[in-house]
Amino acid sequence: MATIGWIGLGHMGIPMSSNMLKAGYTVRGFDIDLLALRRAKAAGVQTVNSIRDAVSGAVAVFTMLPAGPDVEQVLTSHDGVFANAAPDTIVIDCSTIGVQYAKKIHNAARQVNVAFVESPVSGGTEGAAAGNLTFMLGGDDRYIDRAKELLDPMGEFMSHVGGAGAGQAAKVVNNLIMGVSVTINSEATFLAERLGLDLKNLYDIVLHSSGDNWSFRKWNPAPGVVPESPASHGYVAGFKTWLLAKDLHLAIEAGESVGVRLATAEAAHGLLRKHADTGGADLDCSSLILGLGKSAHLGELTGATRSAK
Ligand code: NAD
Repeated sequence: MATIGWIGLGHMGIPMSSNMLKAGYTVRGFDIDLLALRRAKAAGVQTVNSIRDAVSGAVAVFTMLPAGPDVEQVLTSHDGVFANAAPDTIVIDCSTIGVQYAKKIHNAARQVNVAFVESPVSGGTEGAAAGNLTFMLGGDDRYIDRAKELLDPMGEFMSHVGGAGAGQAAKVVNNLIMGVSVTINSEATFLAERLGLDLKNLYDIVLHSSGDNWSFRKWNPAPGVVPESPASHGYVAGFKTWLLAKDLHLAIEAGESVGVRLATAEAAHGLLRKHADTGGADLDCSSLILGLGKSAHLGELTGATRSAK
């Protein structure tokens, strides 16, 4: 089967590219982090030492990188993906980079005649492993069928939202809702614990009540309540605090660009930013609860995490 290039083998990149391997593709992967390369190799990825080697002979190149500046550099630098792509190679960026960076990169791709589609994802590392991510595509109609076919082994629901920047616009709006939910879930759980509530019992109540939400179910911030949650595993990411703060900032910026003030997002962003700046940046975003105060109960349950930071 065909060879694809994969750049960015982190929490999402490894499980996503593993599903491409399972679908029969040969995956040539590159990352600047040696540990990421080692993990990818163990998962079956043919690891290489440069972007050029990852792109060489690939029918498609995927990027799954932290933020806009990383994607811009990897795709548009003089020895980047666009410079090395063959005429029929399609480039698909799955990172969350916001509307402005997406538009900039579509322009750069057009200038060098490279087929480019933005396709940010939702579903977390669980969805990446299960191959049931949601993809929000943005780009020219003529590239979309091909992109969907390539994304199929990794996803369950795909929507072509519109032209350049539209996929990122949908992703930013989704993560505005999710980011505020993660933040309020931490505050609510902190309050519940201070009020003396049993947090497992509270979980059952909320799941049968109007406070229920996706991140409360999957990424519940109280250790031991949801066995598979990051909180039950020392708050190891998952989805890093700084990446969620980045996404809320992208939402605030997008709001500013169209004259919409997002006061709730501003408050949530402030809390996440503070937690990131005081040691929580690379922990899972549900670790925000650790930054909300010193709780004897939670402190006891999470002592190992904090000493491991
Ligand atoms: P991550 O930090 O775990 O992985 C990013 C990888 O990119 C790292 O291994 C890093 O070394 C690598 N990298 C950075 N700069 C590079 C460069 N110049 N060249 C090559 N490799 C480089 O992040 P992640 O959790 O996998 O997230 C990736 C993207 O997906 C982000 O934009 C994030 O917002 C988005 N996202 C994450 C989740 C999640 O649950 N983790 C869910 C949906 C979307």
